[in-house]
Amino acid sequence: MSVSNNKCDTPGCEKQASLQCPTCIKIGITGSFFCNQDCFKSSWKSHKLLHQLAKGDTGNSKEEYNPWPSFQYSGKLRPAPREQRRPAPANIMAPDYAHHPDGTPVSEQLARSSTVIKVLDDEEIEGMRLACKLGREVLDEAAKACGVGVTTEEIDTVVYEACVERECYPSPLNYYKFPASCCTSVNEVICHGIPDKRKLQDGDICNVDVTVYHRGFHGDLNETFFVGNVKPEIKKLVEVTYECLSKAIQLVRPGEKYREIGNVIQKHAQANGLSVVRSYCGHGIHRLFHTAPNIPHYAKNKAVGVMKAGHCFTIEPMISQGTWRDTMWPDNWTAVTADGQWSAQFEQTLLVTENGCDILTKRRNKEGTPWFMDKK
Ligand SMILES: [Zn+2]
Ligand SMILES: [Zn+2]
Repeated sequence: MSVSNNKCDTPGCEKQASLQCPTCIKIGITGSFFCNQDCFKSSWKSHKLLHQLAKGDTGNSKEEYNPWPSFQYSGKLRPAPREQRRPAPANIMAPDYAHHPDGTPVSEQLARSSTVIKVLDDEEIEGMRLACKLGREVLDEAAKACGVGVTTEEIDTVVYEACVERECYPSPLNYYKFPASCCTSVNEVICHGIPDKRKLQDGDICNVDVTVYHRGFHGDLNETFFVGNVKPEIKKLVEVTYECLSKAIQLVRPGEKYREIGNVIQKHAQANGLSVVRSYCGHGIHRLFHTAPNIPHYAKNKAVGVMKAGHCFTIEPMISQGTWRDTMWPDNWTAVTADGQWSAQFEQTLLVTENGCDILTKRRNKEGTPWFMDKK
């Protein structure tokens, strides 16, 4: 299409167009013709909104932004635009994948074929205690930031900065190329949601999963938060998920089989009419982010291994309202329920002790109760 066949876009100007907006050409907007530079300049204030709309950064761009037009979503949530990945923070000890071009955790992959569970020595246990305490502080900062109208990307920024302040590398950043410093999983997202420019809405739930790497050790935890006024059945989902984790933790002591954890979790979920996600599991954690043991949260699983003092691992049940089945968005990260119903999660990092376990990432309030029991 040639410019000369078109009239100027400026309202009231009927002149022949002689130029086309260069920004529109670049981002693929057709049209946007103007008669001359003066007319273009006088229209600029309103015209540039078109560019923002096309790039989807207006904050209410639900209809305009869809990176996967032919994808069938299972629920109502949609992705929003997001910023480029941040570089690794300078002058902070980082894991091997932080600077790997493909984000490959080489040390983790070398250990992958082994089911041997590392028994940590005293120095390593101290390293884990500190990393987990700092991880808790970072998650509590994220919790304060979470609310109606806040974007998950803003929460990600809080997490990144809280990490840097504490001399921590945000473990998810560049892990297999993950593009952010934490996972934010909203509503039907089970886990691994990528922070973006969508504003949290009244009635949403948002899980924030934080892992920090401090002086050679990872500490991993997550919680699901209410955004504004949440429906009673959703509150129930979140509270039962927390109870599933609590009941599983009560089981942890030397001599217990890892496969028993799933039995306890599924029993409680099922008794409340809820289901247990099967594709994502708890994991060993210490100098490596994800390693042996592998800990399914569903019943009758075949997990290998027996708990021993000095073992460190996470329990992180994902509990869903409807089906336990999951599917993935085309970003290859965002795991969502297959039926679009909502899913919640809580996670702690645990250390097996001589007579039970220490919750290394536990909340530092007096009773150790979860946030939803706090008095307003
Ligand atoms: Zn986590
Ligand atoms: Zn984890």
